[in-house]
Amino acid sequence: MKYPFNNPIQKNRQARWLVWFCVIGGLAGGSWPVSAADKSSATLLAEYRGKGIAVIPRPARIEPGEGRFTLKAQTTIAASLMAETIGHYLADVIAPATGFQLKVVTEASGHTPADAIGLSLSGEVERFGDEGYELQVLADRVAIKAAKPAGLFYGCQTLRQLVPARFGSLVQAANVEWSVPVLKIVDQPQFVWRGVLLDPSRHFISKQGIKKCLDWMAYHKLNRLHLHLTDTDGWRVEIKKYPRLTSAGAWADLGDGVRIGGFYTQDDIREIVAYARDRYVMIVPEIETPSHSGAAMVAYPELNCFGTRKTAVSFGIDPLCGAEYCPGNDEVFEFLDGVLAEVAQLFPGPYIHVGGDEAEMRYWGECPKCQARQKKVGNLHAWFMERVKQMVESRGRRIVGWGGVASGAVFTCWDNDGSGGWAAAKGGWMSSCPPATTIISTIISSGRRSRPPMISIPLRPAPG
Ligand SMILES: [Zn+2]
Repeated sequence: MKYPFNNPIQKNRQARWLVWFCVIGGLAGGSWPVSAADKSSATLLAEYRGKGIAVIPRPARIEPGEGRFTLKAQTTIAASLMAETIGHYLADVIAPATGFQLKVVTEASGHTPADAIGLSLSGEVERFGDEGYELQVLADRVAIKAAKPAGLFYGCQTLRQLVPARFGSLVQAANVEWSVPVLKIVDQPQFVWRGVLLDPSRHFISKQGIKKCLDWMAYHKLNRLHLHLTDTDGWRVEIKKYPRLTSAGAWADLGDGVRIGGFYTQDDIREIVAYARDRYVMIVPEIETPSHSGAAMVAYPELNCFGTRKTAVSFGIDPLCGAEYCPGNDEVFEFLDGVLAEVAQLFPGPYIHVGGDEAEMRYWGECPKCQARQKKVGNLHAWFMERVKQMVESRGRRIVGWGGVASGAVFTCWDNDGSGGWAAAKGGWMSSCPPATTIISTIISSGRRSRPPMISIPLRPAPG
């Protein structure tokens, strides 16, 4: 994934994390459907705002009513069987701003008593799907029902957004009436894959930073976190079989005694994966191949065609030898198999992203081992990616790549017009693409010789 440098850079050392929020297109979208019977968007939004209804993304159907439900210290959360965990989550997120420690009680019947927020699983899969829900706010109670826990969880997020903005505060706010407008919302996502891409390789993001992002994603009903874990700028995931990946490959020496970087231990990864799972977010790890791998070359120079002369991670591609693995070297495939084995154990999701783009093949053209291999197999890049695909598929996972890296791969694309993603979507593959027309980018430099992080914010839905 190439880093887009053609944006204005503003110095700000405070901005340490966040990189690229992918706005999702194709089968992966950023908006939820609007009822055909709705009035114009502008009229509706004005009407909703007037009633204190502001939910992002806009729910599929909103039926405003009259009056308000007021949350009080004695309000209970009445959770049906299997909904208690979400009940406790809701109590936990309500507590900081309100100071209320809401009691969670079990209501096996699914009935919501007065002065309660009811959470019930209805079993109506055809109506709600995996992630849909119905939220009914009456003057004396709130009832959320769904077919699956994810839907119930999203109903809770909508409820959170309907309360005054200070509801999200982490410190107790005084003199606020915590009330919600009477209404009924029936909602279901239009797109299965609603994602964010974070790039802790270019800029290391702390474990707490990742968790913050996951909280933010949950609040907006986003459900896929793509983590770009390796590149030339740093290797960020501990691999027990190859410890130098993180002892050497996770750190950059900026001179004058300044050393930056970091990595996630395997315990950190397990903690992040569990935190994501509790928020209905699937993590898609990315291990770049065959290019964008300079940090691995720093740790294990023999993986490169000519060996690297660098002794520490630096930013950008090493002009001396590139950042590509040597396809002519069998040790490279033993290495990648060992890495992917541990990655597959750490990340339980069905996808592993393996990069695949921007290989600088001129180094392969100068390498005797690569040339010998090419005589036998033909296209070195295609052959390389097929081998990586076999490693991933042998562990029951599907590969994701930047573009069509191998047969059967899931496409992602970062190009400006998203054409690769649309082509993939038409071909039936899942895709995510951040077309420039749907995002605004802010690039902030965090220091000398450092890659600037980029934050992209959705402005409007991707074209359908
Ligand atoms: Zn080579």
